Amino acid sequence: MKRFLIFLAVLTGLAAVPAKAELKVFACEPEWAALTQELGGDRVSIYVATNAFQDPHRVEAKPSLLARARRAQLVVCTGAELEIAWLPVVLRQSGNSAVQPDKPGYFEAANYVQKLEIPTRLDRAEGDVHAAGNPHIQTDPRNIGRVAAALVQRLAEIDPAGATYYQTRYRDFASRWEAAIKRWEQQAAPLKDVRIVVQHKGFPYLVNWLGLREVAALEPKPGVEPTSAHLTAVLEKLQRQPARIVLRAAYSDGRASEWLAERAKIPAVAVPFTVGGSDKAKDLFSLFDDTVQQLLGALK
Ligand SMILES: [Zn+2]
Repeated sequence: MKRFLIFLAVLTGLAAVPAKAELKVFACEPEWAALTQELGGDRVSIYVATNAFQDPHRVEAKPSLLARARRAQLVVCTGAELEIAWLPVVLRQSGNSAVQPDKPGYFEAANYVQKLEIPTRLDRAEGDVHAAGNPHIQTDPRNIGRVAAALVQRLAEIDPAGATYYQTRYRDFASRWEAAIKRWEQQAAPLKDVRIVVQHKGFPYLVNWLGLREVAALEPKPGVEPTSAHLTAVLEKLQRQPARIVLRAAYSDGRASEWLAERAKIPAVAVPFTVGGSDKAKDLFSLFDDTVQQLLGALK
């Protein structure tokens, strides 16, 4: 009986603590979930719609996604048409007016960075070419820093009671992030002017950041599977102008990369591309630690 009373007391004690109202966030990709977590700490509860082994261009608008979008107070996605095949359907069918694209509850990371590869002419025959430019902005950590500066403001707008909390966390994150960028840039110095082949055109921001040189892509057009004719042409090109690395994201099928790597006698590297894409890439910091180390390792 005594034990039962103690048990009751504990229960009522717990009940007396008001349930914490966490801001419900729906993140499209793991990098934005990780960034929201850095800034939001324990004021946010985050659902991430995709993992590092899924192609973010191609995601099924499953009922579980609709249910999560329905309850979300803030949607944090890449934008620049990366999710064009699934997110508009999910948002529309969620019936949640607070997170529609014209509302403060909808945040597109790509709006806050300068886009690369903006096409001069839009032609769907050219494959997955996006009018807004290349959407894979997260491979340059300076972009993550820019998005963080905008996202902290949005968190404060949606959840004003947490504004000071978010700002404090942002300042802490931003200073650690700036220091990490300096470290990565020093470590990555040997990668400058290194010629690489990419599987998918997913790396222009990484290439731009580290001064790599992209000389070919294995996909004949973005989003189009490599063909043997195209691979042969790339191999011939490399025989005239060698490259040092064949690069792909963790989610990409490795066969075309491995085929070329074997014949061109250069290493194939699969970088995590986002948080969770390798055992080491557990958060945003280790994502870039691992990416830089894997690229450097391929030069040895
Ligand atoms: Zn892409």
